[in-house]
Amino acid sequence: MDIAQNIRQLKASLPEGVTLVAVSKFHPVEALMEAYDAGQRIFGESRAQELKAKQAALPKDIEWHFIGPLQSNKVKDIVPFIHLIHSVDSSRLLEEINKQAKKHARVVDVLLEIHVAKEESKHGLTPEECEDLLRSGEPAALGNVRIRGLMAMASNTDDEERIRREFRTVRDLFLRLKRTFFADSEAFDTLSMGMSHDYPVAIQEGSTMIRVGTSIFGEREY
Ligand SMILES: *Cc1c(COP(=O)(O)O)cnc(C)c1O
Repeated sequence: MDIAQNIRQLKASLPEGVTLVAVSKFHPVEALMEAYDAGQRIFGESRAQELKAKQAALPKDIEWHFIGPLQSNKVKDIVPFIHLIHSVDSSRLLEEINKQAKKHARVVDVLLEIHVAKEESKHGLTPEECEDLLRSGEPAALGNVRIRGLMAMASNTDDEERIRREFRTVRDLFLRLKRTFFADSEAFDTLSMGMSHDYPVAIQEGSTMIRVGTSIFGEREY
């Protein structure tokens, strides 16, 4: 894998307004440094402990994104430095992030994760649950979290039309929420969709942030 070349090629191919999160989970800090030296400053991790260790070891101008399932008791480990949490799917998690952010006198940016894929998964809110949560007024009342948008993963399938439909469902929800609950908030501007195998479709369907691992760093060894 030529990580530097992969980063440069990928970035050059992205339309303006689409941000690349380099998903570095399970890869060693040396691999992240190759990406860093090629100019990449935004990295995504999915485990709190791994993220914490890498954050401590790597340059301080990196923006760290958390993209995996997040347990409430791990929130305190990442809140001091996290730039964006993509995977918020309950009011309980929002409350915990708010509580820890307050301790650090921070406002932490988050995305609500939407479940649209066919796979059975405990993660993510359905579009209805997401609208119910916002209608409750609770998220808006939390002073130390700011909802920046939505994140979603499409089904793991070769059926491109299915993937496209799922991304479109999330984009439609995003636009609807922007017109209603977030009409007064310019900060609601981020739609995190697209991984190595489906990011071109995600971009066509309105993604503003792609999360790419394998196409940059190669296969992960778990
Ligand atoms: C691992 C992961 C990615 C990156 O997947 P690749 O197929 O390696 O590009 C993106 N998003 C989430 C939520 C992930 O867990």
